[in-house]
Amino acid sequence: MLDYYGVEADLSEEERMIQESAREFVDEKVRPDIGEHWIEGTFPKDLIPEMGEMGFYAPNLEGYGSPNVSEKAYGILMQELEACDSGLRSMASVQGALVMYPIHAYGSEEQKEHWLPKLGSGEAVGCFGLTEPEHGSNPTAMETRAEEADEGYVLNGSKTWITNSPIADVAVVWARDQTDPDTPVRGFLVETDRDGVSTNKIDEKLSLRASITGEIGLNDVYVPEENILPGVEGMGGPLGCLTQARYGIAWGAIGAARDGFETARDYATDREQFGGPIARFQLQQDKLAEMATQITLAQLLAHRLADLKERGDMRPQHVSMAKRNNVRMARDQSRIAREMLGGNGITADYSPMRHMANLETVYTYEGTHDIHTLILGEDLTGFAAYE
Ligand SMILES: Cc1cc2nc3c(=O)[nH]c(=O)nc-3n(C[C@H](O)[C@H](O)[C@H](O)COP(=O)(O)OP(=O)(O)OC[C@H]3O[C@@H](n4cnc5c(N)ncnc54)[C@H](O)[C@@H]3O)c2cc1C
Repeated sequence: MLDYYGVEADLSEEERMIQESAREFVDEKVRPDIGEHWIEGTFPKDLIPEMGEMGFYAPNLEGYGSPNVSEKAYGILMQELEACDSGLRSMASVQGALVMYPIHAYGSEEQKEHWLPKLGSGEAVGCFGLTEPEHGSNPTAMETRAEEADEGYVLNGSKTWITNSPIADVAVVWARDQTDPDTPVRGFLVETDRDGVSTNKIDEKLSLRASITGEIGLNDVYVPEENILPGVEGMGGPLGCLTQARYGIAWGAIGAARDGFETARDYATDREQFGGPIARFQLQQDKLAEMATQITLAQLLAHRLADLKERGDMRPQHVSMAKRNNVRMARDQSRIAREMLGGNGITADYSPMRHMANLETVYTYEGTHDIHTLILGEDLTGFAAYE
């Protein structure tokens, strides 16, 4: 596997073991059928508990059954999952960074004890409801309402593009009391079997097909007071979760690009035209040299980001730079890999075009490329250019 600058030589024993076991799991259990799942638009749901047993859901958290592995180990895990498919990594990102993380960081002791072991083992599935039909890049303008009622809250509104909502047991829903504009956004744990909750599936996606995506409809849904996440108020809540998930994406995208590179390199070495392997042509070598360089640069960024996170110096803007760069790199390079496979490259028998299509979603969710540009622009100049 491509590691041109030997960054993996510095991995600890534990990090290396996590990488190897994730690679083995993916190769044995997921890779053989992932193309078919992608074509069918299904996720291998039977693997959800097995992924839990493997420790794929938020293993970087401390306590409640989580092994508290290093941030680098977590990143490497996301990389190995996305080397198979962005949908597989999305499952782990949502469950871990967007559902378990907020419960761990902002939840009550009862919420943590009730949900974290179940989510960590894959016995329960969670989803994260922030995006709304009319509010994507600007979630602050959300319309979902939470009104106080009878020792609890009544929720109304709709969320869309929610990974795993049709198969989720619990949704982390972000809402505010719209009658009072000064009321901050709050997070609610909404069990999906509550009266008034609907989770319709979104079909006919042309990207991230091996991942279930849906809506969350909230029609006079009552949740008791104990379902509110007590430890956070305001947009810092959802944005704090997004920083965790984006960190994993900055790593994961490298996996997709690396898999495209390895596939293209193998193909170019085997495929013969004009009397020999196409890898002997300078035009093909130029593509491989550029791909390897871009992947190596992204690896260096991710490894440094992990160091910053480990020592508590990572800012959300650092994550924006890595997410923005590494996903764009993977999106561009998977296209070049596809090209090197000629006609075979447009089939589901090979991974590059599947990665290429998936990366359109990864480029768009968790803050679009444009939004990360604006975050960096503001950080670099002091001027916010969102409006
Ligand atoms: C498969 C999939 C899974 C998803 N999973 C989840 C999930 O689990 N939970 C969740 O809450 N959300 C999820 N999302 C939603 C995702 O986060 C949003 O799609 C994303 O934030 C963009 O919002 P939007 O689609 O409404 O696009 P818009 O915000 O309408 O953006 C449209 C275009 O305008 C650009 N744009 C917007 N504002 C500006 C600006 N100020 N300056 C310049 N350009 C701008 C954008 O970059 C984009 O190119 C998912 C999306 C997809 C596709």
